[in-house]
Amino acid sequence: MDTIVVGAGIAGLTAARLLHAAGRRVIVLEARERVGGRMWTDRTAGFSVDRGASWIHGLTGNPLTDLVPAFGMETREFTVGSFQAGGRPIADHDASRRLLDDDATRRWIADVDAADALFQRTIADSGPDESYAAAAERTLAATGWDPERADRVRSFYRHRTEEQCGAEVEDVAAHALDEDAIEGDEVIFPGGFDALPRAFAEGLDVRTGTTVTAVTRSADGVRVDTEVGSFDAAQVIVTVPLGVLKAGAITFTPALPDAVAGPIDRLGMGVFNKVFLQFPKRFWQDGVYAIRQHGRAGFPWHSWYDVSVVSGEPMLLTFAGGAWGREIERRTDDEVVASVLDSLRALYGAGVPDPVAHWITRWGSDPLALGSYSYVAVGSSHDDHDALAGPVDGVLHFAGEATYGHEPATVHGALLSGHRAAERILGAPVSLDRLTRDVRATR
Ligand SMILES: Cc1cc2nc3c(=O)[nH]c(=O)nc-3n(C[C@H](O)[C@H](O)[C@H](O)COP(=O)(O)OP(=O)(O)OC[C@H]3O[C@@H](n4cnc5c(N)ncnc54)[C@H](O)[C@@H]3O)c2cc1C
Repeated sequence: MDTIVVGAGIAGLTAARLLHAAGRRVIVLEARERVGGRMWTDRTAGFSVDRGASWIHGLTGNPLTDLVPAFGMETREFTVGSFQAGGRPIADHDASRRLLDDDATRRWIADVDAADALFQRTIADSGPDESYAAAAERTLAATGWDPERADRVRSFYRHRTEEQCGAEVEDVAAHALDEDAIEGDEVIFPGGFDALPRAFAEGLDVRTGTTVTAVTRSADGVRVDTEVGSFDAAQVIVTVPLGVLKAGAITFTPALPDAVAGPIDRLGMGVFNKVFLQFPKRFWQDGVYAIRQHGRAGFPWHSWYDVSVVSGEPMLLTFAGGAWGREIERRTDDEVVASVLDSLRALYGAGVPDPVAHWITRWGSDPLALGSYSYVAVGSSHDDHDALAGPVDGVLHFAGEATYGHEPATVHGALLSGHRAAERILGAPVSLDRLTRDVRATR
């Protein structure tokens, strides 16, 4: 065997596909009984519910923009997937739960824009040990705004790191979202986002139900031990999530050098969960992409996204990130649904009906993820992401969203990390078009 790829998420499948296209012998070892990893569409209700990734975050300059139509995947514009304050119609509610009129909405968006412009300057002179929270406080102090006005933006910043990093604003580095600019529209997938990894996997040798427990490097290459036997190869690409690496679920022999072990330790693994509620009828405004509650009344639930466009059913999606994301994993489904309904009824009245169905994710306690995505924790940097890729001794490569400093925590970052690992192994540039061509060739 030339290369073993550990993990059949988008990073592992991209690397495997490109190596396969170059004529290499590749196997993919995947612990789950399905491919896709954190791209996972539940179709049991007859429509798509993306329990993991659902958005392409910015079509401009994104490799997914060309790949997705090449695989015949339908998309819908939905440019609110990155915790924007404006850009698309949002039913914003003030701290007293009153709907903002057009003027008040404009003032709110202008406040976020003004604070963000100042925030950029604060971050520019911020070191790796400053938290997003501390930088936000310095920024808000510089605005000179009254406490209520500043508090509204403070809450927004808190929710931004919960959603974008799955972590509390105090734990996230001031620089964590430097790479987070969204270029172009965002889209979601009526047919489900996991159609992409499923297409990438077609015709590859993917061994599902195969949990890797150890990776041993030697002068001859690598040995990979699993719960069902061992495999030898010239190189291995390990794409398991950062949470799995942090937990030490795979034993590396010899031990990983500091250049890789350090980033595993320093980077954070956030928790970001989704709660989908399907209602018997629509009770919210037509034409809005999202409903949002400002200020302290927005804890714990603050944003609901109208994903009816995906399901064809009246359906809202809300998120729980950071400490609250971890907390809901300790609660029953009924408790979580009741809590979301309390918040919705505070906005729309007691007439909000009980949902007819719900879907709740628990990525933090999923042993094959142990979190949702990585983030730059206080004391780490974007360089830590790239350092994590290795290679170690020329035979052990890492890929996955956590290894891609330019776009961590995304599908396209994970895909590009798999591309980078394949290029490093092949020792030459490889066009991403080969993904499409190789899948077609095996159909
Ligand atoms: C709730 C949620 C929402 C998200 N929303 C978006 C979004 O809208 N847009 C976006 O761009 N990104 C989003 N993301 C992030 C995106 O899903 C990930 O960045 C991306 O899918 C990661 O791909 P990966 O290949 O790096 O890892 P994974 O998809 O996690 O693949 C790693 C694979 O390794 C396997 N594995 C683990 N341990 C072992 C083992 N010991 N042996 C063998 N196999 C093992 C796992 O089962 C998994 O299949 C979201 C993530 C979550 C959780």
